[in-house]
Amino acid sequence: MKVGVVGSGLVGSTAAYAMVMRGVGREVVLVDLNQKRAQAEADDILHAVPFASAHEVRAGDYSDLEGSRVVVITAGVNQKPGETRIELLGRNAQVFQQVIPQVLKYAPEAVLVVATNPVDVMTHITAYYAAQQGVPSSRVIGTGTTLDTARFRALLGRSLGVDSAHIHAYVLGEHGDSEVLTWSLVAVGGIPLEDFCRLRNSQICEEDRQVIDEQVRRAAYHIIEGKGANYYGVGSAIARIVEVILRDQRAILTVCTPEEDVVGVKDVTVALPRLVGGQGVIATLEPTLNEQETRDLRASAQIIRSLIDELIPQLSG
Ligand code: ADP
Repeated sequence: MKVGVVGSGLVGSTAAYAMVMRGVGREVVLVDLNQKRAQAEADDILHAVPFASAHEVRAGDYSDLEGSRVVVITAGVNQKPGETRIELLGRNAQVFQQVIPQVLKYAPEAVLVVATNPVDVMTHITAYYAAQQGVPSSRVIGTGTTLDTARFRALLGRSLGVDSAHIHAYVLGEHGDSEVLTWSLVAVGGIPLEDFCRLRNSQICEEDRQVIDEQVRRAAYHIIEGKGANYYGVGSAIARIVEVILRDQRAILTVCTPEEDVVGVKDVTVALPRLVGGQGVIATLEPTLNEQETRDLRASAQIIRSLIDELIPQLSG
């Protein structure tokens, strides 16, 4: 099964590498404005194939995306000195205005997985351009808070001494500063967190919660401070999302996709738990949150909606 990756920078090529190491799909095609970079990344990843699973890895152009079941979009431009967030967004929107029609010209049936930041807004824009080609928004998925949710689970697992695979916990809303760690939903082996702590004679006090909150919410900043960019975590999250789609796994992931209404905010794209299968998003599973979490989710969705409102005049076509 073929997977395309458009934008073979750090995130795109790490996602391709993670797919090869995880045995997701059989063929990956890297497309980039910088063809030399795409070729070099494809060669480098291909040389890892004998140590992983059988895979064809190559660089190509848009026409080589033909037949892709999934196309991952990680293309984007970097912030120029003095450039505002909204100006950067405008330039990335222009990139997507070129990229999305090209992708859909050659892979009209593909599920699109967007990871370019700010991912919620970029996913909204992707759905906007994809709709012009008749593609339903359920086939447009942003990585959302898939990684943040993984971070939350990893830190809870460490703190509780339980394999994080047995912890259910979700980060919702924006992938960024306003994201919401939904503590009220945390369950360990199906047992609510507080009951689990009582059973185990342990506790996660307010201070522990604040530390975990900070480590999840500020993770990207800490990593950028230390090494300049984030890519292993998000690359692995992309590989997992692609795996769910290719294998039609019907997994619940905190991805983002346009929604008519999120706790009162209209036509917005933020992360919520979503049932994902071979054709993209099957259903949004809006959970019951406590009052504070609901307010925080609304505020988070409003931030994304405001960015979309600011950006809309710049969108053409
Ligand atoms: P990240 O860390 O998010 O991966 P990078 O700057 O490393 O960011 O990668 C972004 C990639 O997107 C670059 O390789 C760049 O050449 C590519 N890119 C930018 N614009 C386009 C475009 N219009 N079409 C295809 N690729 C693009």
